[in-house]
Amino acid sequence: MKVCKFGGTSVASAEQIKKVAAIVTADSSRKIVVVSAPGKRCSEDEKVTDLLIRLAEQALNNKETKKELADVVNRYRLIAEGLGLSEEIMHIIELDLHKRLARDKKDPVFYMDYLKASGEDNNAKLIAAYFAHIGIDAKYICPKDAGLLVNNRPERVRALPEGDELLAKLRDEPGIVIFPGFFGYTEDGTLRTFNRGGSDITGSLLAAATEAELYENFTDVDSVFVANPVIVDNPVAIDKMTYREMRELAYAGFSVFHDEALMPAFRRSVPVCIKNTNNPEAPGTLIVKERNHSTQPVIGIAADDGFSTLFVDKYLMNQEIGFGRRLLQILEEEEIPFEHTPSGIDNLSVILRSKFITTDKKARIIHRVKEELNADDVNIQSDFSMIVLVGEGMRHSIGLAARAATAIARTGASIQMINQGSSEVSLVFGVHKKDETKILKELYAEFFQSSAVFS
Ligand code: ASP
Repeated sequence: MKVCKFGGTSVASAEQIKKVAAIVTADSSRKIVVVSAPGKRCSEDEKVTDLLIRLAEQALNNKETKKELADVVNRYRLIAEGLGLSEEIMHIIELDLHKRLARDKKDPVFYMDYLKASGEDNNAKLIAAYFAHIGIDAKYICPKDAGLLVNNRPERVRALPEGDELLAKLRDEPGIVIFPGFFGYTEDGTLRTFNRGGSDITGSLLAAATEAELYENFTDVDSVFVANPVIVDNPVAIDKMTYREMRELAYAGFSVFHDEALMPAFRRSVPVCIKNTNNPEAPGTLIVKERNHSTQPVIGIAADDGFSTLFVDKYLMNQEIGFGRRLLQILEEEEIPFEHTPSGIDNLSVILRSKFITTDKKARIIHRVKEELNADDVNIQSDFSMIVLVGEGMRHSIGLAARAATAIARTGASIQMINQGSSEVSLVFGVHKKDETKILKELYAEFFQSSAVFS
């Protein structure tokens, strides 16, 4: 039994939904189908989720919602008409949207979640209606009835394992299950959405709970590539990688698959396959527990910007017990997560995501570190990029870091930080943002092409 998830572009129009039906019926083991809200039909288009966010914002500000509501309804109407469905499904969708809009607004976060989730919920109902219309035995199932339980933390919605037992019963449903992605319910019945792109998480949760043989994640690219195709021309495709490799790549900007979505599949060892709705014959990228890495020690190169470095210098820092803890505690109290902590004998750097450092926080952190830790020098610098070389085979290859550093040196850029994770699955280089593109190209040439760009 397989769980398939179709992302926003795969369900953005009637034409795309017809492809989904063809894919699902082509393999009788495709049993549970998780769908996103209609996404973009072309690059200038808007996602239904974004239209819904605008609609909710208008309503929360007590402003006119007519236009925003019509924008959402029209997207579904176009799809329903293109699929030859009767008006009945449009009644259901319009009624549902009106009900959600009329909800109590006293908690704006919950109100927003209810509206956002309607994108996938109504699309799942529409797709189930289409499947029935063309004679496929399929039904919509609501995450609440299925038992998709989430926690009640306002800022980080996560699935609770207590829901798994009930979710496993989806296996026994007769026919195909059409399941909306992106949201679940708390124990007291409140709807909560995952982070953006969270339908991947729903698919993974269902694949894990039902112990599916495979989780197929259908998107709009043939595979995951070894480097960002926007920067590198025609990069090599990855046919197989491990969960850890995907996690490391997703961390540094590979957005094909939601990084939080790997965990449920990983825990139950369900393989994940990234495939293309527009080219389902292509084998895609398979994500598994282990791979033979002898021929390909490096699986991919990722780059992400928006990092800052907190640099702290104090003479004899290495002898001071609790220095690191107290430094990180200041960050904790300022509610800033840390990414890496490369250190020297008398100095320590903490790499942070710049989006968490407001001007106020920056001044306060510098002041507190100076005062509370008696540091000799403290500063925060921004505009850094992290270039991450990922591969399970790296820990067995000698000279790989030297090859990477030499390639970077060829570009004339300087390396600000090097960090090899303890798992040795990744090697991270902190560089100035302005050098990111040329470094990425050079590393690609070094590890995936025969000739380097700058040699
Ligand atoms: N529709 C939601 C979003 O745009 C969730 C998803 O597509 O996975 O973020």
